[in-house]
Amino acid sequence: MNLIVEIFYLAAAVLFILGLKQMASPVTARRGIVWAGIGMVLATAITFVHPHVNSNYLLIVIGIALGGGIAWKTGKEVAMTDMPQMIALYNGMGGGAAAAIAAVELIKQHEMDLTVQLLAVFGALIGTIAFSGSLIAFGKLQGIKQLRGAFRFKNQQRINAGLFIVVAWMGLGIATSGTDYSMVVLFLFFALALAFGVMMTLPIGGADMPVVISLYNAFTGLAVGLEGYVLDNPAMMIAGIVVGSAGTLLTQLMAKAMNRPITNVLFSNFGETSGEAQEVTGSMKAIEAPDAAIMMAFAEKVIIIPGYGMAVAQAQHKIWEMTKQLQERGVTVKFAIHPVAGRMPGHMNVLLAEAGVPYDIIYDLDEINEEFRTADVALVIGANDVVNPVARIDPSSPIYGMPILNADYAKNVIVVKRGQGAGFSGIENHLFFADNCRMLYGDGQAVANELITNMKEL
Ligand code: NAP
Repeated sequence: MNLIVEIFYLAAAVLFILGLKQMASPVTARRGIVWAGIGMVLATAITFVHPHVNSNYLLIVIGIALGGGIAWKTGKEVAMTDMPQMIALYNGMGGGAAAAIAAVELIKQHEMDLTVQLLAVFGALIGTIAFSGSLIAFGKLQGIKQLRGAFRFKNQQRINAGLFIVVAWMGLGIATSGTDYSMVVLFLFFALALAFGVMMTLPIGGADMPVVISLYNAFTGLAVGLEGYVLDNPAMMIAGIVVGSAGTLLTQLMAKAMNRPITNVLFSNFGETSGEAQEVTGSMKAIEAPDAAIMMAFAEKVIIIPGYGMAVAQAQHKIWEMTKQLQERGVTVKFAIHPVAGRMPGHMNVLLAEAGVPYDIIYDLDEINEEFRTADVALVIGANDVVNPVARIDPSSPIYGMPILNADYAKNVIVVKRGQGAGFSGIENHLFFADNCRMLYGDGQAVANELITNMKEL
């Protein structure tokens, strides 16, 4: 029976890896999710006949039904724009589950190899931090009033460092004392690790939340992998390592996209405006849909920059319809995607794929940034921070140093947004005041519709 279980676990692990590989491209991503899902079903189902699982079947079934039911319902209902906080929440549950496994093993106080005990405690520590930290991240993204913004006080970093040293010291004590640790210390260790996750996340501003969630994702993966080692469960080990390394890579990529080292994300005051912001000169100039339609219809090249507002307006289908009209007129249309556009990695790619935009006209920042100089029109739809030239020039700005899409280098820029609303970072956008920029006010979907109607009449 053991051999059969091991074979199933191996098959599940292979499915996780192949699934993840397929998620790397939008063309195969859906299939990748299904494969990884099948892997998870296999791993879960075979666990019922695992020789070590010989009781509590009812409890397991109730757990699966409850967790699976809630996840199924919320997963179906969640709005695309609320996806990051859902990821934070699910990710936190993973970390919590890993920590719970460690807690169960440590409460039993059974003999463990020193290495195994060290790994169990380390997994408990990072799993617990990922759990409470992710819950705070969820609250921040959900806009819970008390958690909004960055919560800072004097000597915060020192207090946090002190707290971490105490938790790590207790953990080391538990890990190296065989079965000879007190339950009170174990309880305190978990309670302080929970508190550290909260304290570590509270001072981090909203704009950095995606990087933090990705970091906790890596923590969760590592914690699951470590507890897999403790339980001698290869499927858990491999799944955990895959999630841990994918999370680590994603964290690095996102930090790079924002041009900031991860230490800076965790320990600096990013996300808050500090110092004197640079004065904006010029004024915002409005344009009406008929004029914007003419400008684009008679252009040679149009580059479309989607942002969070396109997701809010669900304008992707209309934008694709408009693109097809432009293409029929012989206009070259390309889409430029900033790595942190929207509210989660790949947000814009998912929306454009959903609308049926072919992948070969969608370009990443590095691929397209040089092309703006040759574009007749840059159409910015619901994007703001990712095209804010202040990132290049104003060291006092919270987005200073973040690479942006060079929309302002295009001959003409049309910005579609509802009004004077700021972007995620809450700062003024100098692009909107530029001489070559015109503001086309309105909801993204309604405006796209108007543009289509006007183009048809030309
Ligand atoms: P953004 O800076 O948040 O700006 C979005 C703009 O869309 C707003 O200025 C808003 O202006 C407009 N808008 C909102 N609803 C609209 C609608 N229905 N129709 C038309 N426009 C609408 O967006 P972004 O340029 O995509 O930048 C993303 C920001 O989010 C970055 O700061 C990034 O760091 C952060 N972030 C990214 C992620 C990620 O992983 N991608 C996750 C979390 C945070 P009006 O209110 O005037 O309409």
